[in-house]
Amino acid sequence: MGTLDGRVVLVTGAARGQGEQEARLFAAEGAKVVLADVLDEQGGAVAKELGPGVARYVHLDVGEEADWPAAVAAAKEAFGALDGLVNNAGILRRNLLVDTPPQEFTEVCRVNQLGTFLGMRAVAPELAAAGGGTIVNVSSYAALAGLASLTSYAASKAAVLAMTRVAALELAAEGIRVNAVCPGGVDTPMIDAERAAALHRKLVPMGRIGRPEEVARTVLYLTAEDSSYVTGQHVVVDGGWLAGMPLPVDTRRSPSS
Ligand code: NAD
Repeated sequence: MGTLDGRVVLVTGAARGQGEQEARLFAAEGAKVVLADVLDEQGGAVAKELGPGVARYVHLDVGEEADWPAAVAAAKEAFGALDGLVNNAGILRRNLLVDTPPQEFTEVCRVNQLGTFLGMRAVAPELAAAGGGTIVNVSSYAALAGLASLTSYAASKAAVLAMTRVAALELAAEGIRVNAVCPGGVDTPMIDAERAAALHRKLVPMGRIGRPEEVARTVLYLTAEDSSYVTGQHVVVDGGWLAGMPLPVDTRRSPSS
């Protein structure tokens, strides 16, 4: 018995990285998975490996309104219904605030923010028709603490958290739970893994960068019945980065004690 037996979940950005791990884990937990991405060759190969009875790949640019009805139709055609969505697709651009071209800001918000909005908007009626379901939106620790050079990314990911709360309120009566996950640094093609690994050894209490499977397991929790009374929340998966300021440990007793 898997925790997602009988479920049909669409995962965006599923060709690689965290989305790929979510698709693989969900399939292992009994779900039928629709993998959506713009990297057709990679996404198609993952779906093929999982098998036609379990997974289907669809081309979906999440920021393109017209792509969503086709992706939803493909899910229903393949598996009869749709009762889960993971809005995982995202892009990152680094630039100082004063150097960020407005087009770059707009490009990041188109995928991360508009893409999440369009996904919830297109899929929520299907989840309601299926008698309820789950949406998990992938935000970031950048939505919760300032990180230099990430103005556009942080803005888009903060918007994802804000929309998650509003959607949770509006959709609760339909039996739809909406939550978010805020990963810290995760070892995927999105980031420079070598530089990030060195940085994380120094800065993160757990002394290492995160693995995509670790985020996938949190997304699984928010999709499965284990989180049946959780909605409108975000879960931080960051090895302790946001827990506080890492200072050298001082083991001396204070003079007054
Ligand atoms: P990744 O770059 O490996 O994967 C992102 C996926 O999204 C890719 O497959 C890409 O093709 C797809 N994608 C990009 N634009 C798309 C579009 N317009 N339509 C559909 N698919 C599109 O990176 P990842 O780390 O796996 O990222 C997954 C999510 O996690 C993203 O939302 C990202 O912002 C978030 N995140 C990542 C980190 C990190 O350190 N890696 C940290 C916090 C949050």
